[in-house]
Amino acid sequence: AIRVTDLHKSFGPLEVLRGVSLTAHKGDVVAIIGGSGSGKSTLLRCINFLETPSSGRIAVNGEEIEMRADGSPVNRRQIERIRTRLGMVFQAFNLWTHRTLLENVIEVPVYVLKVPRAEAIERARVLLDRVGLGDKADVFPSFLSGGQQQRAAIARALAVDPSVMLFDEPTSALDPELVGEVLTVIRDLAAEGRTMLLVTHEMKFAREVASHVVYLFEGRIEEQGPPAELFGNPKSARLKQFLQTVG
Ligand code: ATP
Ligand code: MG
Repeated sequence: AIRVTDLHKSFGPLEVLRGVSLTAHKGDVVAIIGGSGSGKSTLLRCINFLETPSSGRIAVNGEEIEMRADGSPVNRRQIERIRTRLGMVFQAFNLWTHRTLLENVIEVPVYVLKVPRAEAIERARVLLDRVGLGDKADVFPSFLSGGQQQRAAIARALAVDPSVMLFDEPTSALDPELVGEVLTVIRDLAAEGRTMLLVTHEMKFAREVASHVVYLFEGRIEEQGPPAELFGNPKSARLKQFLQTVG
């Protein structure tokens, strides 16, 4: 579970997050939508401290991340430990290009979590199977399609058995015909009750898989609620307009 309380983030004079609070309980799929520059990626990146928040509070599985008044972490070790509980998948495929898929998937379990290699390999094969890449374990990423690479990135994120998956527009860099296969994998994860924060511009998909939808506008939550409400009966004029522009 994730709890974010009154999160602020500025880059110099630019206030990107202006007091965001949200909760994802175990098994929730929280979709985050909003226009370009509204702070969606910054929010996800603050949650795993790829960005240092300016202020606010973040708790992962009930454990509060200790921050100084300026948002910097008190304890780097705590961040590293918590980060291994979060599986992040970005827009651009972030696989190690000089390693095979299998090596990509076992990297963090073996070298960071010290899982015995044989055990990590066994689990990696199961995960690659799950995302439909069981026959590609020994292939290098550059030989794969974008959709296959993104599914491999999901397998890699799952390798640490994360308690929360963070997705930042995982399909936006894909050719349209490859989007479906990646969404299918994410849909399966949702169905098995994985906690997820999902930034997406696929409104139909958000409506289908999310348990809760958050609409960000200029660094604030403008409206949030269950997908049927938010998409079916939006209240904010800004959200109505946004939904029109994204179709
Ligand atoms: P998109 O839909 O285009 O991905 P987003 O909602 O994810 O947009 P963010 O990437 O969070 O938006 O960016 C929000 C604002 O913060 C933008 O104006 C962006 O230029 C700015 N920003 C993001 N990262 C940095 C950075 N490292 N330094 C300075 N400004 C940044
Ligand atoms: Mg973004």
